[in-house]
Amino acid sequence: MVMSQQLEMAIGFVITAGVLGVVAGVVVNWLATTLPAAVRVRPAVCQGCQRPLLWWEWLGLARAAAPRRLQGCDCGTGVRQLAVEICLGLWFATLVAWRGVSWQVVVVAIFSAILVLVVVTDIEHRRILDAVTYPGAVLAVVSNTLLAPRTWWQWLAGAAVGYSIFWIAGVVGRRLFGQGALGGGDVKLAGMIGAMVGILGIWQALVFGSLAAFVYCGVALVTKRVGRGERFPFGPFMVLGTVVSLVWW
Ligand SMILES: [Zn+2]
Repeated sequence: MVMSQQLEMAIGFVITAGVLGVVAGVVVNWLATTLPAAVRVRPAVCQGCQRPLLWWEWLGLARAAAPRRLQGCDCGTGVRQLAVEICLGLWFATLVAWRGVSWQVVVVAIFSAILVLVVVTDIEHRRILDAVTYPGAVLAVVSNTLLAPRTWWQWLAGAAVGYSIFWIAGVVGRRLFGQGALGGGDVKLAGMIGAMVGILGIWQALVFGSLAAFVYCGVALVTKRVGRGERFPFGPFMVLGTVVSLVWW
């Protein structure tokens, strides 16, 4: 009796986390479409034709399920809109199923949503926005410090180390390979990541991220998916390393 009640409650938490993840996906989709295009944040628009979305179309899952004649245009639901909602929904549910409900899990979930936003703008526009990394870094230092007040310096130190390593790598890269090896957005992203995972986690994040990027570049060069010297978004790989570091507590 007691066991089944506990199980029911646990399942309830996991489902709630999944729904919250989908909601986080709606917010990430909205910001990913409007932030790179506008100085001011405006309502979500269709990625195909830029008309404002009807209120229920903000939820990509609803838009995909609704008949076309109810929708405001014929573009159909974007793959990204659906992918972000489904990925964040599954990820939030997985976090709660795996780690239970705690402030730590809440913080990791919020960081994950911010990192997904970085991945989307980096892939779609080759841009990592200051409007994401600056507030993200501040939020990371504050929330990590609230979780463990005596460790406040670890998050500031992590931000400083991440930023410095990428800044130096960018200067060296420009000397060796010319312009655009590592963008300013990448440097600020490394700073935000350092604030999220701290001085102890930043090494892990950078090593995993660089390894993943290295493997991807090797495969892409061999299969001729990209040519030598071509730019590719480094952000998603850093984010991958960060997520590994975040759940490694
Ligand atoms: Zn449209």
